[in-house]
Amino acid sequence: MEKEMLRLAQLQTVGEMAAGIGHEVRNPMTTVRGFLQLMSQNTELTKYQAYFDTMLEELDRANSIISEFLSLAKNKMVNLHNLNLNDIITQLYPLLLADAMVSDKYILLELGEIPNLLLDDKEMRQLIINLVRNGLEAMEGGQSLEISTRLEAEEVILSIKDQGKGIDKSYWGKLGTPFFTTKDKGTGLGLAICYSIARRHNASIRVDSSNRGTTFEVCFKMELLEGILEFQY
Ligand code: ADP
Ligand code: MG
Repeated sequence: MEKEMLRLAQLQTVGEMAAGIGHEVRNPMTTVRGFLQLMSQNTELTKYQAYFDTMLEELDRANSIISEFLSLAKNKMVNLHNLNLNDIITQLYPLLLADAMVSDKYILLELGEIPNLLLDDKEMRQLIINLVRNGLEAMEGGQSLEISTRLEAEEVILSIKDQGKGIDKSYWGKLGTPFFTTKDKGTGLGLAICYSIARRHNASIRVDSSNRGTTFEVCFKMELLEGILEFQY
């Protein structure tokens, strides 16, 4: 028991250090990016355009890995408000759909009648984006993904169902472990972030997958959330 607590404390310090380094590394990267951008606009250097493009892309990729890592490492406070998941999804929909259409995929909405929950708006958006991106990345062109909400036995369920290639059973235990990825350019942080967001909302995540597709369900316990609401006022 004591050992476990010590390990957690160490992890927290390592996490904090890593977060600090992430922040510090970002500043010089911003400088480099700025000068690269400037050079890429110089007409005498047009023959290097392809190199500049790659350098800028890779810098942006490194930057987004740091962002993802920071949002995991930070010991965040949730900013809970009385919100409806359906509104958050509807607001996000044009962005998600545009993302899907780029690779000839589609997103359907099936929003049921659900009560408000205590949610952190930014974190919910992040959770939905991460799950939807994974679903889209697993699918072929012409296929579609469905985002739905429903009320089920005192729980509000957010379901993201894709028609993608599925997740091999041998990987199920690894889902949500930071840096677990099967993609060439994956970070393996997307699901880890989803799990930590769910934890902060007292929600659980269920996964079901076969070679016909994968469904991620985030289950919010209404009872608990209402309890917090009462406690606050
Ligand atoms: P990344 O997307 O960067 O690989 P994630 O944490 O988002 O990292 O996902 C980890 C791994 O879980 C993915 O590499 C993939 O193998 C698997 N995965 C997650 N969601 C899905 C999905 N909807 N369909 C198929 N595989 C998935
Ligand atoms: Mg991902």
